[in-house]
Amino acid sequence: MNGLIEALRQVVGANHVLADGDLTAWEQDWRKRSRGKALAVVRPGSAREVAQVVRACADSGTAIVPQGGNTGLVVGSTPDASGTQVVLSLQRLNAVRGLDRDNLTITVEAGCVLQRVQEAAEAAGFLFPLSLAAEGSCTIGGNLATNAGGTQVVRYGNARDLCLGLEVVTARGETWHGLSGLRKDNTGYDLRDLFIGSEGTLGIITAATMKLYPAPAARLTAWAAVPSLDDAVRLLGLAHRELGAGLTGFEVMGQFALGLVARHFAQLRVPLYEQAPFCVLLEKSDDESEAHAREQFERLLERALEEGCVADAVVAENLSQANQLWHVRESIPLAQAEEGLNIKHDISVPVSRIPEFCRETDALLQRLIPGVRLVNFGHLGDGNLHYNVQAPEQGDPRGFLEQWEEAVNGVVYDSVQRFDGSISAEHGVGSLKLAKLEKHKSPVALELMRGIKRALDPQDIMNPGRVLRA
Ligand code: FAD
Repeated sequence: MNGLIEALRQVVGANHVLADGDLTAWEQDWRKRSRGKALAVVRPGSAREVAQVVRACADSGTAIVPQGGNTGLVVGSTPDASGTQVVLSLQRLNAVRGLDRDNLTITVEAGCVLQRVQEAAEAAGFLFPLSLAAEGSCTIGGNLATNAGGTQVVRYGNARDLCLGLEVVTARGETWHGLSGLRKDNTGYDLRDLFIGSEGTLGIITAATMKLYPAPAARLTAWAAVPSLDDAVRLLGLAHRELGAGLTGFEVMGQFALGLVARHFAQLRVPLYEQAPFCVLLEKSDDESEAHAREQFERLLERALEEGCVADAVVAENLSQANQLWHVRESIPLAQAEEGLNIKHDISVPVSRIPEFCRETDALLQRLIPGVRLVNFGHLGDGNLHYNVQAPEQGDPRGFLEQWEEAVNGVVYDSVQRFDGSISAEHGVGSLKLAKLEKHKSPVALELMRGIKRALDPQDIMNPGRVLRA
């Protein structure tokens, strides 16, 4: 292995091959579920160097773990414990290569932090709509490799929908120059879509051409208390009809989830949550003016009040109030962490079936563990819930996780399957959900996926043991 380390030093320079010292930042996953051991962390500074690094690793049959911001939530971007895997960090590939105003595209390197891409778009008068709570640390390469979603999917789609082209270094160390920026291209299989969502198991994304949108003239946020999840779904239908493409966000938050924010972050004002079992956060973007947006928004809420699917509502008066409302929503995972370890899910089911899914699964879990607490919140507009399970009051969180994780996952994922849903709507499979995928994905789909993996990575060196077992 010393030969490989020396070869990597030749490619990227000795300063960018880290083999000793404290490598925690690259070896420990975000949720601290797993700590691995890297043979080395390599930090190439260009796509050309990435290709050379991959070739050196391929020649010695060494496994590569691509890593962006290391904010992934399924233990996919850190090495295993063997000490034989090379972590290939994309963080030095952080240039904005260009912005095409007429084509409405921006071309960025994979290690660009998401927030920087948003800022570059904004500086040119455009909107890059991908937005998630990790945006200050996650990278566009990681967003594409996990097909990240976030808070604006209901209008703009997820990372896949925003991507027009990719530059990829293959498992053989060749470079596919696919940064076309085309909106139409029907020349055979869609290679771009193969790499998006592949979690580093098929190749390394080194750059991407992403869609831009005109910056909206106004953005308004409202917060509504709803009597039930059925009413939240009815409100979503109304919002689609009344606001059309103006609806950019639709988040649901359970009363217990909001209660945790109120309990652990007393400085935050959590509106209306004591009045109803669920609250909804709606966002509308408008191409005309704030007055137009407000008028449309208020009409929607009046109708919803009349029809009884909203019990009470507030509309943010200004950007600062809107940000405060979003801050409450984004504080739920942190408040939950303060409450103690819990069993997390990131599932999707068709929007229309969400109320029934929750009723049925809530009851099954209560039967299994009387008093169990459900931290239910998420992107209802996309049918995506963070359906998380917390120990009963006074329970020991770590002991709860150890004792119940397997059984709780079994109940939730079996329910998801009965409701034609997905066990991962956003975060991906990584190593955490590998066995679950084998159980819940169709054998035909799994075999097709294995065929793709064999074709693109015959040596199984690209992030092995993630998504699929060889
Ligand atoms: P990493 O964590 O470094 O890597 C993730 C995966 O992608 C790994 O398998 C890695 O090998 C692979 N990878 C990384 N870069 C590349 C590359 N250039 N080429 C090939 N493979 C690569 N996700 C959502 O979808 N929606 C959310 O709302 C959301 N909110 C989050 C909030 C918080 C606070 C956190 C911590 C995470 C959240 N996530 C969310 C998880 C999400 O997957 C990541 O934040 C993000 O997309 C990963 O980007 P990253 O650069 O950190 O990738």
